[in-house]
Amino acid sequence: MNAISSRVESNSNRVTTGLDQRRGSIAEVLAPLDAIAASSTNLVANYGARFQADGQSYVLPRYLFVGPRGGDTPIRLGIFAGIHGDEPEGVHAMIQFIKLLEAKPELATGYYISFYPISNPTGFEDGTRHLRSGKDLNRLFWQNATEPEVQLLEAELRSWSFQGIIALHTDDTSDGFYGFVRGATLTKHLIRPALEAAEKFLPRDGRPVIDGFNARNGVIRDCYEGVLSAPPKSRPCPFEIILETPSAPPEYLKQCAFVAALQTILLEYNKFIAYAPNL
Ligand SMILES: [Zn+2]
Repeated sequence: MNAISSRVESNSNRVTTGLDQRRGSIAEVLAPLDAIAASSTNLVANYGARFQADGQSYVLPRYLFVGPRGGDTPIRLGIFAGIHGDEPEGVHAMIQFIKLLEAKPELATGYYISFYPISNPTGFEDGTRHLRSGKDLNRLFWQNATEPEVQLLEAELRSWSFQGIIALHTDDTSDGFYGFVRGATLTKHLIRPALEAAEKFLPRDGRPVIDGFNARNGVIRDCYEGVLSAPPKSRPCPFEIILETPSAPPEYLKQCAFVAALQTILLEYNKFIAYAPNL
């Protein structure tokens, strides 16, 4: 999203620009999740990840959804949104997805899903792509960065050893939905059905080059250095998917496309696990 439109959007949502109110905007957006977590037997809110930025105290929002028991050991997934503060689409889609899981927990059978709806709280507050420090959070991972946001997220990635990592982003230079794959070989078998599911709501970006990378049917196998990812040399190698929605379509369609893609990945990965428990 470009700086001007995001600024207008974030200002129109803000009653004042006072510091407390800015913090309030995050609480307001996440209020539906906190309300669910307050009474849910599946969703747990964990406010324990705190950091300081600009002399103010922040929380990295974390929610854990515990699906009904499946196989022997739960499958650990990490889903991240709001890595760029001016991309609210993923944030809202994640909230919708969690609402769906709360209504139909069986969709998450066998899963422990860690949700990070606002991975870049200062950027989200400011309506900017970057952290308040001015750096792009999605270029800082596993490079000994000192930014507290990176360190908190790296600690989550390390301690959970996710079997799958999914990040939700927005691309204002694309007219279609697409994704990046990294990590485990099976990843490409997960993203194809996910893009097909999203295609019911948004066209796919079929260009041969997207965002400077070679692409095929909306799938890119290359990536920027320092994107949010599993710790280097993680074994077994998790699947890693970045989903990108175009920014222009109506909000509802963008959310539906993300939710359909996420639901499909859960379903397809469960099938893989059933066939090959040692993947
Ligand atoms: Zn992004």
